[in-house]
Amino acid sequence: MHCPVLILGGTAEARALAARLTTDGVPVTSSLAGRVSKPRLPNGQVRVGGFGGPDAMAAWLTEQGVKAVVDATHPFAERISANAARATTAAGVPLLRLERPGWTEPADARWHWADDLDHAAALLGQLGTRAFLTTGRQGLAAFAELPVYTLIRCVEQPDPPLPANSDVILSRGPYEVDSERELMKSHGIDVLATKNSGGTMTVAKLEAARGLGIPVVVVRRPPRPATTTVSTVDEAAAWVHARVAS
Ligand code: NAP
Repeated sequence: MHCPVLILGGTAEARALAARLTTDGVPVTSSLAGRVSKPRLPNGQVRVGGFGGPDAMAAWLTEQGVKAVVDATHPFAERISANAARATTAAGVPLLRLERPGWTEPADARWHWADDLDHAAALLGQLGTRAFLTTGRQGLAAFAELPVYTLIRCVEQPDPPLPANSDVILSRGPYEVDSERELMKSHGIDVLATKNSGGTMTVAKLEAARGLGIPVVVVRRPPRPATTTVSTVDEAAAWVHARVAS
C-alpha cells in the first residue's frame, strides 16, 4: 500500500506527527495547500496543492488506499477541515482532528474578543492608533479602510488592498518575548491583533503586549465539524497506529 496515512498539514504539529510516524515506519503523505513559496517540508512524502474539493479528495483517498486521515491543519483553515469531514465520510476512511488548544487570557491582560476579522478591524479602530496586525496574509482586506497606522507581519507578501498607512514585515516564527517587545516599542504600537491560533511559535507577542499594557484583539476560532479531536502529537500517533494495525 502506497500511503496508509494522509496528514493534512501546514502546521508545526502536522510536521511533528509526520516525523514521528515516519520514524515509526508508517508510510505517510503530508498534504500542503501551496500558499507559501518555501514551506517547511515535513518528513515522508509530500503533495502540494488543493485536491479540487471534497469529492476529488474522496477519490484520491480511495485511489491511494489511505487507511486513516489526520486533519492537523491550522485552527482557522475552515474549508479544508469541512472538506476532510465530507471526503472521509464518502470514502469510508477514519478521520482524526489534531488541534492545539487555544490561548487563554492571563488575569492582568487586556484582551478583546472578536468574532471575525471585520469585527477585529472595528475593535482596532476603537482601541488604538498604531496597530500591530498578526492575523496572517489572508483576509487583510478587512483592515484596508482602517484610518490608523498598521504594522503588518506575515510570512509572504500580502496582496492588496492593505491599509494606506502601513508597513509590512515578512518573517516566520518562532518569536521571543524580548524581540517582540522591542518591535512593538520601536514602532510605537498601542494595539495588537491576532487570531487565537494557540501553540508556542507565536505566543511571545501576547506576553510582550501584556508587559507593555497594550490591548489585544483576539479573533475567536471558527466553528468546526464534529470530528474526534486530540490536542497532542502523542495521542494522534497512538490513534494512527491503532488504525494502521487493524
Ligand atoms: P482553507 O481556507 O481551509 O482551504 C481553502 C482550500 O485550500 C481548500 O478547499 C483546499 O482546496 C486547499 N487546502 C487548504 N489546506 C490544504 C492542505 N493542507 N492540503 C491540500 N489542500 C489544502 O485553508 P487556508 O486557511 O487557506 O489554509 C491553507 C493552509 O495553510 C492549511 O494547510 C493550513 O494548515 C495552513 N495555515 C493556515 C493558517 C490560517 O490562518 N488560515 C495559518 C497557518 C497555516 P481544495 O478544495 O481544492 O482541496
